[in-house]
Formats: sequence, structure tokens, C-alpha cells
Amino acid sequence: MMKPEKTIKTIRSSPRLKSIEYAIRDVVALAQKLESNGKSVTYLSIGDPPKYFPTPRHIKDALIKAVNEDQNYYFDSLGLPELREAIAEKENKINKIPITMDDVLITEGVSEGILFVQSALINANKKDELLIPGPSYPPWLSFTNFYEGNPVEYRLNEENNWQPDIEDIRQKITENTRGILLLSPNNPTGVIYSEKQLKAIADLAGEYQIPVIADDIYDRYTYDKKFISLASVAKDVPVIGLNGFSKTYLMTGWRLGYLYYYDPEHYLDELREDIGRLARIRLCASSPAQVAGVAALRGPQDHIKKVMQQLRERRDYTCKRLNEIENIECKVPEGAFYAFPKIDLGDRWKDDKEFIIDLLNTKQVLFVYGSGFGPKYGSGHFRVVYLAPIPILEQAFDKLADFMKH
Ligand code: PLP
Repeated sequence: MMKPEKTIKTIRSSPRLKSIEYAIRDVVALAQKLESNGKSVTYLSIGDPPKYFPTPRHIKDALIKAVNEDQNYYFDSLGLPELREAIAEKENKINKIPITMDDVLITEGVSEGILFVQSALINANKKDELLIPGPSYPPWLSFTNFYEGNPVEYRLNEENNWQPDIEDIRQKITENTRGILLLSPNNPTGVIYSEKQLKAIADLAGEYQIPVIADDIYDRYTYDKKFISLASVAKDVPVIGLNGFSKTYLMTGWRLGYLYYYDPEHYLDELREDIGRLARIRLCASSPAQVAGVAALRGPQDHIKKVMQQLRERRDYTCKRLNEIENIECKVPEGAFYAFPKIDLGDRWKDDKEFIIDLLNTKQVLFVYGSGFGPKYGSGHFRVVYLAPIPILEQAFDKLADFMKH
């Protein structure tokens, strides 16, 4: 028997957790510190649409009804069959992805889907690579590190309105590449991958037999150009897709999403079975939220148009204001609700993080530093969330303009 130690030692956490970074929430901690000192902060940093656009009434009613009718028990691990069916219908009809309900697994948001997909694809050998757009939604990078793989950023080309650089992807494919991630409309740049780029990526994926992973969470947040799914332009490439209810149905807090497999050639059978087993040990996604998900997909959709009309105004206003400020330059985003301007830091700031913290401390306006979305291609930028009404945006950009002058 080991003798108990007399001195109290710090309990060490696993080094795995040290690799986790999430710029979007890490900066909030800094803002909260200011607030605890009595300052009021304007947050243009978190992409949480129901903070500005309420969840539609019929979806809320469906959730309340499910709870009151005692649908509060565990559902099937794969998800409520009716919901899986409604999702397959939507993907067929709107995104032209020919899947059935058997290809759909319900998750607790896309976040859980990211965790599932990466745990299946990435071996803990520090070698397995995931090709991730640079810049990209941070958890994609963090989870590859968490699973002890190697995230490799491929270039979104700012000069080409942030379209993916196909040659860069080609050069970065190795024998260790386990997947190519598409994130379109993109967070943080707002680019919608063009049909030409999608076909080129599909050709590469086919040539090297690499699955495509598609984070489609902003598929309905588009302005002039529409979202195009990879499965609709390339029939023979396996796709693991992720999507959810957080953004389109204004349900971020309810934690509901899904994975789908588009796999006519059955390349993904083993992966699908193993992810299914993983889903069983976490029991199920929120049951009442799943019932509400059916109402969301099958009920009226008119809120989407209304939200997009308002967001278009906010987007145009944001780009106009940003481009009027010296040393800031912003491409017009094609989808989602983010702008990702470039900033000339000069000698005034060491890097984009220092710029964001200085702005927060001086003007109490919070954006997220660009390097948080990928060190290679995100640096020298910052992300603006333009969900807030124009008077709030106006105040924030007035402060930013003033800050840049002094
Ligand atoms: N994927 C992307 C690209 C996102 O921007 C977000 C949230 O902002 C998520 C996934 C997480 O979504 P969910 O709320 O479905 O977990």
C-alpha cells in the first residue's frame, strides 16, 4: 500500500487539455473583468443570433408542449426518427444532398458533431492531419490538437474574396491527410465556396481518396450567392456533413444539431458504425429540443427571410464603416454574419491580440482577434459580429474610428 502524501500537491490535468484554446470566449473573460470594475462593454464578438432575433413562436411552443406532455425521457441515441426523416427531407430538397434518415445522427449541436468526427478520424499519433480552412472556426483546430493529431491550415485567399486556394490544398495533402474540411459560408470570412472551387476540391478528394467534411451550419445565412453542397456537385466523394438548429432556427441555447453521411460508395461504413457506438455511450441529445426541431423544419420558414433582410442592412453598414477607417480594409462577406477586416498594425501594436485588448481597455468595444481563427491566415485581422442593430453598430464603429485616429 502506498502511504498517503503529507504535503498537498496540485492535481495535474492532462496535457491534452492544454491544447484547447477558444479565442471567442477567452476574450469575454477580459471584458467581464472590466465589467466587474463598473465599465459597460459592447460585445460584437459572439455569433449568437437569438440574442437579437427571437426563436419563432411555433418552435418555442413545440418545446414547451413536449416538456408538458412528458417527453422528458431519453430518446434513441441516433435521434428521434421523425426528426431524422425531416432532416433528410430538408437536405434533399434544399441542399440537393440525396440522403435518407438512416444517414442522419442527431447531436447536441454541431459542436458535438465536431467532437464525434474528429474522434473517429484522428489517431493519437501527432501525425494524422486534418486540412482546415485558414481562417476557420477555432474548435476545428483545437479538437484536432486535443485528439493528438495535426491541424493543417489551407489558405483562403483574401485577394480572391477568401475563396479556397486549390493549389495550396494540393500541396498540403500528404499520406497522413485524414480529411478536408469545408466551412461554407465561412466563419469568420463569410465566403461561400464557389462551384468551381468545390469541384476542384472534390477532384482532389477523389484522386487521393480523402473524405470531405462539410460544416454547413450557415447554409441558410446567404445574401446574393446561394450555398452549394459538395454532394450536389460531386457524386462520388464521401462527405461527412454537420449542420444544426442553432443559427437557422435561432436555438443556440437548446443544443441541437446533426451529422449526415453522403456515401453512395460505402467508404464510410466502419466510421458510421463506430460513431454510432460513441453516440450510444452519451445516451442522446436533448429530447424536448428534438421534438421542437421537427416543428422547426416542418413549420413556417418565413423568419429566415426576415432575419436575412435585416442582416443584409447590417452587413452593408458594417463594411461601409470599416472601409472608411484608415488602415482597415474589409471584403464584403457573402454569407453568415461575420466580417473579417484586415488591419495594418504599424508600430502601434505587436499583433492582432494586443490590438483587440487595447481597443477593449480604451473604448470598451469587444471584437475577436484574427489569429484566434488560425495563426497562419487569421493574423493581422479581427472578426466583427454584425448581428446587433445599427445604432449599436454605429456607436461601436464611432469608437473604433476614434481609437484608430489617436
Ligand atoms: N460550426 C461553426 C462554423 C460555428 O460558427 C459554430 C458556432 O458558432 C458551430 C459550429 C457550433 O454550433 P452549435 O451551436 O451547433 O454547436
